[in-house]
Formats: sequence, C-alpha cells, structure tokens
Amino acid sequence: MFFHAHPDDEALLTAGTMAMLAAEGHRVVLVVATAGERGLAEMEPGDELGETRLKELYESAALLGCARVECLGYGDSGLSPKGGVADERPDNAFIDADTEAAAKALAAILHEERAELLAIYDPAGGYGHPDHVQVHRVGKRAAEIAGTEIVLEATVNRDPLVRLLKLAGRFYRFPPEFDVRTFESAYSPGETITHRVNVRKYTKQKRASMAAHASQASGGDSDRTLAVMLKVPRPIYRFVFGTEWYVRRDLPPGARLGHPFDRWPK
Ligand SMILES: [Zn+2]
Repeated sequence: MFFHAHPDDEALLTAGTMAMLAAEGHRVVLVVATAGERGLAEMEPGDELGETRLKELYESAALLGCARVECLGYGDSGLSPKGGVADERPDNAFIDADTEAAAKALAAILHEERAELLAIYDPAGGYGHPDHVQVHRVGKRAAEIAGTEIVLEATVNRDPLVRLLKLAGRFYRFPPEFDVRTFESAYSPGETITHRVNVRKYTKQKRASMAAHASQASGGDSDRTLAVMLKVPRPIYRFVFGTEWYVRRDLPPGARLGHPFDRWPK
C-alpha cells in the first residue's frame, strides 16, 4: 500500500516501484489523504479541481497497475505563499486532522488488504509540505495499529539532486525565489537511505503516470514541477527518474537493499 498526500505525489516519488510490484504480481493499493483541490493549477482551487485531480489519479493508478484506489477525503491544507502552513484552510484540512482518527481510517484499509508493506514519507515530508509531514505521522501510526511489517519512507537522495541543481545553475538561470540551498536540507542524505530501487524498466509507465496528471502538468505556469519534469529528454529522464529511494527505520542506515521486500541481513 502506498499512502500519499495529493494526487500526483505517487507519480513523482513511487510510480516506478508501484509499477514494478504490480508487474511482479503483487496487489498494489494507492491511498491519498486529499483530492488535492488546493493544488496549483490553471483551474481555480475548489471542488471541481478536486474531482479533476481524482480522475487523473484513477488514470495514473490504472497505468501503474494498481488494484484499488482510495481517498481518505480530508481537505487539501494548501501551502502558504512562503511555503509553510496556509492561514486559510478548509474545515477538514488534513493538517488539522486528529492523527489517531486518520491513522485508524488508514489502518482499516491496511487490515482489510492484509498489507505487508506501507510506503509513507520521511518525517520532514520531503520538501516540507504540511500535508506531507502529516502523511508521515498518520502513516507511521496506522502501521503500528495494523501491525504492518514493512514501513518504507519514500524520499529522494538529496546528494545527486543538489549536485545536479548546482550544475544546472551554471547553465540555467533559476528564478530568484528558487534557492538551491533549500534542497540541502530537503529529503534525505544518501547515507540514511536503505533502499535504492532500480525502476528503469518502468520509466515509461512513470512518465505516463506524470502525464496523466494533466491539470498539474500543463497550462500557463510552466515552472511547475511536473511540467518541468515532463520536458526532460527521454534518455536523461531514464537516468534521473530510474531510481526511487526509501528509508526503512528498523534497518541500519548502511543497508543497501534494492527491492522493497528484500530481507535484512541479506
Ligand atoms: Zn503533495
């Protein structure tokens, strides 16, 4: 089971692993906390955007071979212009949800599916979106309640990312508000990562999954993450998106495993 905050998070972080596990015959379930109705898009934030994004989620999930998709139905907490918690939030914003109640809802699905593995985010929520931090808290607790054996925190190895961004900065002028240094504390340093999953065989599905989130990938604001990533030329895409990274906290940080179900010690 893969637990994400908003539709399209699965495309960016775990799509390759999901497609791989589905191809291997595992039952793959995707759960999102919110419909992403306050995400950046050409459409105005609101219920209609939420509906569109859920449709995109179903399409992406089908491309990846998911057997089931669920939305917990919390409100998208949004993001303040500075990047933190937005002052104006819907009544049922995921960030304001009672952790225990949300964890119980997720644990019920884990239990029903007899899930062997739950993928969540690292404690910092990757780049720090409040809903992503909440995914970590709720997911961790849900796994405790359901007794789920393997909990993987989906992340990005920040070391090559920072190197790549610094290199890109020599050829490309980033907008002034884009500060490469923020990535020096985002996601995870290489030495803490326990799983490096080679998903090059599934980059076609991963790209298709990103493209399915059209409301996030097209339109006027071409600086949006998905739009930028879909412009990456195919051979480079395979290289950049050919690995997905996870941290499993009950394993030593030095464990270098390649598959989510790998045993330790090997
Ligand atoms: Zn998100």
